[in-house]
Amino acid sequence: MSKRFEFAVIGAGLIGSAAAKYIATNNNNVILIGPKEPETKINHNGIFGSHYDEGRITRIADTDTTWAYLAKKSIKKYDSIFNFSKIDFYKQVGQLSVGPKSNNIDSYINSIIKSSEEIAYDYHHLNKEEINTRYNNLKFPENSDFILQLNDAGHISPRRLVKAQIKIFTQLNGTYLSSIVNNIKKIQSSFIIKTSDKQEIEAQKVLVCGGGFTNFTKILPIELPIKIRGRTIVLGEININNLSDYELYPSIIHYPDLSGRHYTYILPAIKYPDDKYYIKIGGSNYYTDINTYDESIAWYKSHGNNDEIEAITKELNTIYPSEIFENYTTSTCITTWTKSGYPIIDEIEKNLYVSVGGNGSAAKSSDYIGKISSDLILDNKWDDQVNKNFLSLNYSI
Ligand SMILES: Cc1cc2nc3c(=O)[nH]c(=O)nc-3n(C[C@H](O)[C@H](O)[C@H](O)COP(=O)(O)OP(=O)(O)OC[C@H]3O[C@@H](n4cnc5c(N)ncnc54)[C@H](O)[C@@H]3O)c2cc1C
Repeated sequence: MSKRFEFAVIGAGLIGSAAAKYIATNNNNVILIGPKEPETKINHNGIFGSHYDEGRITRIADTDTTWAYLAKKSIKKYDSIFNFSKIDFYKQVGQLSVGPKSNNIDSYINSIIKSSEEIAYDYHHLNKEEINTRYNNLKFPENSDFILQLNDAGHISPRRLVKAQIKIFTQLNGTYLSSIVNNIKKIQSSFIIKTSDKQEIEAQKVLVCGGGFTNFTKILPIELPIKIRGRTIVLGEININNLSDYELYPSIIHYPDLSGRHYTYILPAIKYPDDKYYIKIGGSNYYTDINTYDESIAWYKSHGNNDEIEAITKELNTIYPSEIFENYTTSTCITTWTKSGYPIIDEIEKNLYVSVGGNGSAAKSSDYIGKISSDLILDNKWDDQVNKNFLSLNYSI
């Protein structure tokens, strides 16, 4: 006998947990289905999520106005998420964008300035001397230009944000089921959802937010037009004696325009669950294409891409003083890309919806992506500030 719900959200990650919360704000018959984070990666036999970490950069500053808008709307809600959940997930330490000085209106820094004319926020346009005064010890190429966003920017713990959203969802009488969906079948006007632990759920409307595993678990009637990239991060461990004020440094995004240098993003010192402090770096021009379920599982259990490890470790030791690091560890994760560069938020067949495709940028903006998805499934409503066409399935095909 199946349990009946009006709404089912599949995928309890950043987008799914936010969407489920917003649906439950309006309806008391909602189930969220998705596995919890495994205790260890290596012994885990099942799917993973892209939120198993302590640091994601958050900022409004962006070259793209849609992403800037989604971030601004989400960051506005961080305080209320904390107030309702009492789970602390956000550190407002600021975010620093670094690129070469240029007169080209399309340069990285000039594009951020241009987009801020549409999506307004406070920022400082600084030179190297001003950055050195604020953040002693950071080293960037001579010809660098800097945008510093101090308010509504810094970093979030994606792991804790998911916990907070699920906590609020269950406080709103939502039902959370830690399980993997392996089949969704349309029966007359509803869907029968089957899970790996043999549970059966009936729902009138279904929203799938499965991130990088959406296609691999084959639960949709179509393959979404998404590409999956395996990404590697390096964590530089800092001894507590070298910690200085590095916890208060901003999150950094650096687009150098020099041969041999790579695009990177760097989080400041963050305390991880093992009680050690790490400065995390990711990015680079190297990544690994992931094409199957098995490749994805193997990727999560691997140490990552050697070219990427070499490139980002070098960048870390160039931007931060190398002597503060005791040792380095690596970790892996996947990102989900669409042709449009935005998530696909759409009804792909009657009453079956998707919200998938973070494009490496959705953690900070997941709350509002969840809200848009919830508005669509609840009332067929859409925020006119976001171009619906860009986020449609057809746009990404
Ligand atoms: C290394 C790295 C660094 C990043 N840095 C940033 C950053 O600095 N700032 C930023 O904003 N973003 C960043 N991102 C991107 C951000 O983490 C993702 O965009 C975000 O996690 C996407 O959210 P999601 O809900 O789509 O996917 P996820 O968070 O992965 O959630 C999807 C969930 O669905 C579940 N699922 C899948 N299939 C099924 C199924 N069949 N049944 C049940 N559950 C299922 C999965 O287990 C998972 O828990 C980064 C990503 C990576 C990998």
